[in-house]
Amino acid sequence: MTPKAAAPIETAPEHADGFFLPDADFPELEFAGIRAQYAALKDAIAPCIAEVFRHGRFIMGPEIEALEEALCAFCGAREAVAVSSGTDALVAPLMALGVGPGDAVFVPSFTFTATAEVALLLGASPVFVDVEERSFNIDPDDLRRHIAQVRADGALTPKAVIAVDLFGLPADYEALAAISEEEGLSLIGDAAQSFGGRRGNRKVGTLAPVTTTSFYPAKPLGCYGDGGAVFTDDPEMAELLRSIRVHGQGSVQYAVERVGLNARLDSLQAAVLLGKLPAFEGEVAARNRLADRYDAGLGDAVVTPFRPDGCVSTWAQYSILVDDRDGVRARLAEAGIPTAVYYPAPMHLQPAYRDHGAGEGSLPVSEALCGRVLSLPMHAYMQDESADRVIDAVQAAVA
Ligand SMILES: *Cc1c(COP(=O)(O)O)cnc(C)c1O
Repeated sequence: MTPKAAAPIETAPEHADGFFLPDADFPELEFAGIRAQYAALKDAIAPCIAEVFRHGRFIMGPEIEALEEALCAFCGAREAVAVSSGTDALVAPLMALGVGPGDAVFVPSFTFTATAEVALLLGASPVFVDVEERSFNIDPDDLRRHIAQVRADGALTPKAVIAVDLFGLPADYEALAAISEEEGLSLIGDAAQSFGGRRGNRKVGTLAPVTTTSFYPAKPLGCYGDGGAVFTDDPEMAELLRSIRVHGQGSVQYAVERVGLNARLDSLQAAVLLGKLPAFEGEVAARNRLADRYDAGLGDAVVTPFRPDGCVSTWAQYSILVDDRDGVRARLAEAGIPTAVYYPAPMHLQPAYRDHGAGEGSLPVSEALCGRVLSLPMHAYMQDESADRVIDAVQAAVA
């Protein structure tokens, strides 16, 4: 059997604001722009990959430390630990904190499954919390209610909170840190969607004592496979994470100090990220310009995303709220506009977690949002004409 040849990617002309954009008649409107980004950045990525083949250290090669340093320089965290995925980035700190059976881990219900899954993987119990209607992030007041409820029930020990920066918008870490401190809980920020964002003058990676992210290809900063990282200012936590990342190893090879994971990031994926990172700040700015354009073009027709003062989102998704979502999606598909639904059901109603939630009606905001949310194409390399095509199609689809 002859393998199917990959479609050639045209070299892109340079755009006025310094970005290489795909040719004006790039036929396909991409949802996350993975191919358009490759066309723009391949000359930066290729030598980084070639270097890995030259030295041959595919596991824990020099790219890992170089990436960790570059990520720290980017976000201002003291320590970064590169790991194999955004999911392992959550498992490792929970292991480091000793989270296990009998412990309650508070998570928003409106999130990707990984946020809740990691508690159960360690034998702990996820406790689902509702989100704020506007930000879509964990509601600090509802968090307080659930902590009080768990204490009153007495079956579980409140241990940790995992906040999620949904769609790229940082959660309310000031409120969450105050509650966590008062209640003696560890606070983890699941920034799988928000690395590159900020709250005031503090960047994601420094907003919580421990922050995790994902480099899944479609995330704002993605590699070409699975990857992730954990950020902290606490050197002891970082040392534990580095041990857990490699089977709980001690300072001497094959000294096994604790039970760990194989959670290493590949050198090749670190090389991809090193090639992409210099463009990332500009990409976040471009994503924000696209969000501005969508806001201006759609604000009169649909509910556009909340933009709290002083926060910068990375727009992992640009998600509007519509009625008759299925009809709107179908009309957009007909017009050649790809869309996605993140997420069709809140976690507390998913079969895997039903035993850990209070059922339908218990978290009304998460439930209502899952019925109305619709994500539009979003990436740094989208041209204005394409954005206007999306805007016109949405206007027509909701009319
Ligand atoms: C993508 C994602 C994860 C998991 O990341 P992976 O790299 O796919 O393991 C965790 N939490 C959230 C909120 C995510 O969006």
